Amino acid sequence: MKLNAFQLNRRVLIVGGGNAGHVLVARCGSLGLSIDWLTTYTREAHALDTALKSHGGVMALDRAAGVTWHGCPERVSENPGDLVPSAEIILISLPAFAQEPVLKQIAPHVKAGTCIGVVPGSPSLDVVIRNAFKGLTSRPGIFFATRTLPWACRIQDYGQNVSIFGTKATDQIVVSDPADRIAIQLMQAIAGPGMLYQQVASFLFLAFTMPWHPCFYYGMFKDWDGITPYAKAPLFYSSITRSTADLITATSDEVLALKDRIVDLYPSIDLSSVGHVRDWFKQTYGRQIPNSDLNDLHAMITANPAYQNDLLFPMRMQQNGFVPDFHSRYLTEDVPFVLVVHLALAEMVGIKMPKLQHIVQWCQRVMGKEYLIDGAVRGRNVDETRAPQKYGYSDFSIFANDMGYL
Ligand code: NAD
Repeated sequence: MKLNAFQLNRRVLIVGGGNAGHVLVARCGSLGLSIDWLTTYTREAHALDTALKSHGGVMALDRAAGVTWHGCPERVSENPGDLVPSAEIILISLPAFAQEPVLKQIAPHVKAGTCIGVVPGSPSLDVVIRNAFKGLTSRPGIFFATRTLPWACRIQDYGQNVSIFGTKATDQIVVSDPADRIAIQLMQAIAGPGMLYQQVASFLFLAFTMPWHPCFYYGMFKDWDGITPYAKAPLFYSSITRSTADLITATSDEVLALKDRIVDLYPSIDLSSVGHVRDWFKQTYGRQIPNSDLNDLHAMITANPAYQNDLLFPMRMQQNGFVPDFHSRYLTEDVPFVLVVHLALAEMVGIKMPKLQHIVQWCQRVMGKEYLIDGAVRGRNVDETRAPQKYGYSDFSIFANDMGYL
């Protein structure tokens, strides 16, 4: 999709100096958009500025398609006050745990009418945005969020090169004004023709991001003795066993049961886009793995070219080998921002999710956190999650009413 002159004339601020930030810079630059780049980390901002000045921009290499994109931000800063006031579109690509603090830093500088997108979004993002702008006179025009990132990508050289290992075929997007087309057109252009955005009706959809990475961790390390090091880091996706794939399937069944329960109780909430992990995988990567059984999650994951070779379990190096890193983002992001949210919603609408509860109990132990006490979402670290309970909600109908889901 090509952008029209009106869209091209809008200044875009990319927020986040990580893998996704690099691809967004390259992709927006190749579309001809004027870009600035914000990372609230001073050291990162200086490193990006230095790299950009000496190498003239960021190059993204899409390995599968064999194409490159190039973008060079006009300004880089660690100070939101330098860049946010002139932004007309703000694209935030940060780990979920960084979204709330960064949105609070950005909000006072946002000029009225600015479009804010969080790519990818996360559960309760609408609550976070509402709270960030509470008491401020200026309001964003529209805000939107995608379910995930279009790409699997990794930085090769900071501020210079980033590799794209695969592009998803579809993703979902939710927009605060469902009639607005700008956000979808922009994201469609950024993702490119190989990927199709489907618009979903409710921000509550973001709470249904599937339980995924923690199941891989559980499957790989649940029997680890906590001492013996590994000779090398195991492959993250391709080493998955059938029983781990079955566990992912079973937890996804529980998430669908949660969705059904909410819709039974509140039929006006449209969660029709929430699907099973197997169907998500089929839609997202199916065409890239033509020789695999598209009803077999295990076969699809192990054969997916986007998951090959470079993607390893995060490990910590020790003198005689490697031990699992239980503070990696796969857990610190997915447990408090996905799995605990499922359990929190389940508690609010009165259903049990025994498999998910078991996984969270294992994860909180290895992470040194406490989200659950006797299966209830009331551990000492609930404030670090996106459970509606953190924001004072224990009654689902009040939560849904306040957030406009009903
Ligand atoms: P990343 O780790 O490469 O980038 C993180 C960036 O976030 C950092 O560079 C820093 O600028 C910023 N940041 C981190 N913690 C912060 C904090 N507390 N305060 C302020 N800024 C902070 O992450 P990424 O790979 O770019 O991923 C961005 C999001 O996209 C994550 O939610 C990730 O799970 C998701 N995602 C990534 C991929 C991928 O292939 N990279 C694929 C799917 C989804």
